[in-house]
Amino acid sequence: LAAQVPGHPPVTNTDTSATTPPGNGALASVETHLADILATIVTLQPTRLGLSEAEGLVLAEDVIAAQALPSFDNSAMDGYAVHAEDVAGASEQNPVTLPVVGEIAAGDTGAYALAQGSAIRIMTGAMLPHAAELVIPVEWTDGGTARVTITANADAGHAIRLAGGDAQAGEVLVPRGTRLKPMHIAAIAAAGHGSIEVRPRPRVVVLSTGDELAEPGTPLVPGRIWDSNSFMIAAAAREAGCIAYRQAGISDNADEVLRTIEDQLVRADLLVTTGGVSMGGEHDVVKSALQQLGTMTFRKVAMQPGMPQGFGTIGEDSIPIITLPGNPVSAYVSFQVFVRPALGALQDDAGLGLATVRAELTAPLRSPPGRRSYLRAVLTGDRITPLTGQGSHQIATLGRANALITVPEWVVQMQAGEPADVLVLP
Ligand code: AMP
Ligand code: MG
Repeated sequence: LAAQVPGHPPVTNTDTSATTPPGNGALASVETHLADILATIVTLQPTRLGLSEAEGLVLAEDVIAAQALPSFDNSAMDGYAVHAEDVAGASEQNPVTLPVVGEIAAGDTGAYALAQGSAIRIMTGAMLPHAAELVIPVEWTDGGTARVTITANADAGHAIRLAGGDAQAGEVLVPRGTRLKPMHIAAIAAAGHGSIEVRPRPRVVVLSTGDELAEPGTPLVPGRIWDSNSFMIAAAAREAGCIAYRQAGISDNADEVLRTIEDQLVRADLLVTTGGVSMGGEHDVVKSALQQLGTMTFRKVAMQPGMPQGFGTIGEDSIPIITLPGNPVSAYVSFQVFVRPALGALQDDAGLGLATVRAELTAPLRSPPGRRSYLRAVLTGDRITPLTGQGSHQIATLGRANALITVPEWVVQMQAGEPADVLVLP
């Protein structure tokens, strides 16, 4: 692991994709840019799905317990339903023997009553017979079938699951806005709901532009590079719970960019492009092509990597589009900081952004003034080690990171031992 170690010179944010302009007046803050992107997002209409299809999606309704959970008093153990009085004082020295007058298995819907002075064999989950006060676990008995000898006792209520002991009828089991995990699915199923209203999985179209891009798996001539962004961003969108369509090989030609975007609108809830949004004039074809539409904002954001950014809406249906810079690390960081929350907003989930933790720096670092740095790093327990190789093209370094150190705009250096804010990568 090419991690920084204490004693080495500070790790420096060496992203040279865009130099810090004089004064910060021209730069939008990360918060402003994110808020402006989120303002373009309209939450997707809910759809009704079967439980098997709902995992990982966001619930669009409160799921209510129609009946109490459990819905009837039942046994928590395999054992014998008895009256408390009949087993009071039972012990190894003073065993109590009772006649076994019946057996109730889970799923038995019959109505039974327990007479004083007798026991009914009962299985876990079986409905408690009327008048039974507790269940003696089979382990405290000789396991008899005609008669049972009991060598320990307990109070009334022992090993009984009372109706409503988990949830009352009418109680909200899983609230609207919950991203459904297996335990939520279980609660919904246990309450008898076969289908639920959820937000659909957002469809993300990922487009990569650039004359230099070649498809991985094909030969390369000097001057070209293999396209990594479109695979990375599509994978990141899927990791965030979306459906991703990758549309690559778009040349630096304004007509081709516009035509491709138009073609893709039909299957997109969000479009994400990479490349072509810097300051390079006609070479920055995403920017020059989309700028004409009048629904886009291109700006510099006070962050490193990832300064040139754009967003807006496209087409009759005002599909949101986010245009990320082309440098792979810039594109990746921008996805996590801006696109992930936007994907959350499409699903009415404000919690899709990355988790932040505090960790102790193991090495010093430097950061440019006026810009928030996102430094690739390795988080180990509560210690964070910045990696060497912080250029925004250094995708190999990115592959070694499991976290990003965020250095505030007003901080230009940090020492080993200082606490740092860390975004944990998914
Ligand atoms: P651009 O933002 O188009 O000026 O690109 C900035 C840098 O990112 C250039 O070095 C590009 O070659 C590189 N780049 C752009 N698109 C991709 C991509 N899809 N995969 C890998 N690198 C890219
Ligand atoms: Mg380019």
